[in-house]
Amino acid sequence: MKITEHIKNSPTKTLFSFELLPPVKGQSIQGIYDAIDPLMEFKPPFIDVTYHREDYIYKQHDSGLLEKVSYRKRPGTVAICAAIMSRYKVDAVPHLICGGFTKEETENALIDLQFLGIDNVLVLRGDARHADSGFIPTPGGHAYATDLLQQVTNMNNGIYLHEDHDTAFKTQFCIGVAGYPEKHFESPNMKTDFNFLKKKVEMGAEFIVTQMFFDNSKYVDFVNKCRENGINVPIIPGLKPITSSKQLISLPKIFHIDLPDDLSEAIVKCKSEKDVKEVGIEFMIQQCKELIKVGAPVLHFYTMSNPGPTRRIAEAIF
Ligand code: FAD
Repeated sequence: MKITEHIKNSPTKTLFSFELLPPVKGQSIQGIYDAIDPLMEFKPPFIDVTYHREDYIYKQHDSGLLEKVSYRKRPGTVAICAAIMSRYKVDAVPHLICGGFTKEETENALIDLQFLGIDNVLVLRGDARHADSGFIPTPGGHAYATDLLQQVTNMNNGIYLHEDHDTAFKTQFCIGVAGYPEKHFESPNMKTDFNFLKKKVEMGAEFIVTQMFFDNSKYVDFVNKCRENGINVPIIPGLKPITSSKQLISLPKIFHIDLPDDLSEAIVKCKSEKDVKEVGIEFMIQQCKELIKVGAPVLHFYTMSNPGPTRRIAEAIF
C-alpha cells in the first residue's frame, strides 16, 4: 500500500516506522530480522531500507603498489525489501539513489521493484563517496534527486528509456523525497533549498521524510514554511535517539544539524555511556510526545539497525 494511504487511513493516530541499513557485505540477513523483530509489536505499516553507493578502498600488493578498488560495503537493498515484505507482511520502502547507477541500471531496478510488488520508493541524490570531497554523479546517471524523480514519474506515465512503447505498463510508485528542517548543507540558504523541495513535490513527490532534528521548533517551522509555500504533502519527521557521547560531535558533523543546549549539557554531565543512552532515550520520548501533539503523521526512527533504544521509546509512546 502507498505510504500516503497508510497516513490517510490513520487520521487521528500517529504511526510508527523505522529505517534499517543493509548488513555489511559478508553478514547474513538474520541481522535484519534481529533488528526488526523487537519492533514489530508497535505495528509499523512500513520499513525503509537505505541504499549505499560504492566506495573505494586501497589494496596493498606484495610489491608495495596500492590498487584502488571500487566496492559496495552494504549491498542487497532490493532483496532485503522483498524479504521483509514476505516475512512480515508490511510495506518495505527502498531508498533509490543517483550515485553509483546509470539511468539504465535505475530503470532495471525500478522494473524489479515493480515486479516484487513494492509500492513506494524514497528518491534521493545519495551521499558522496568517502574519498570524494563532494557528490560526483555517475557517468550516464543522475546529478540530483529531481532528475531521478523525473525518471520514476516517467515510468509512472509509461515512459521508459530509449524505446517507444505505445502500451508500456505504467508503474504506480508513490514517491517520497528528503527534506531538511535545518537546510541541506550545500544549499546557500533556506529559500533555495525550499525552491528545490517545492520542485520535487511539483514533479510528483507525494511525501517528505526529514533529516533528523532534535529541536521540535525546527520541524514545526519547516512544516509551516512548506504549507506557506504550497507544499501540502505529509511531512514525516526522521528521529534518531542519541546513544553515545561521541554523537555530540559526529551527528552535527555528518548530518549538519544542531543539538539543543539542554540536550548537549545533559550529555556532558553524564558519568557513563549508560547514562548518556538514558538521557538520549528520555529526551527522544519527550520529543515524540510533542511531535504527536503537533500532528506529526508518522514518527520515523533512524535505528541504524540497533532496535534497542527505539524499542524503549516506542514502549513509552505507542
Ligand atoms: P537533492 O534533492 O538532489 O539536493 C541536493 C542539494 O542540491 C541540495 O542542496 C539542494 O538544495 C540542491 N538541489 C536540488 N535539486 C537541484 C537542482 N535540480 N539543481 C541544483 N541544485 C539542486 N543517502 C544515501 O546515500 N543513501 C540513503 O539511503 C539515504 N537515505 C536518506 C534518507 C533521508 C530521509 C534523508 C534526509 C537523507 C538520506 N540520505 C541517504 C542522505 C542524502 O542522500 C544526502 O543528504 C544528499 O546529500 C542529498 O540528497 P537529496 O535527495 O536531498 O538531494
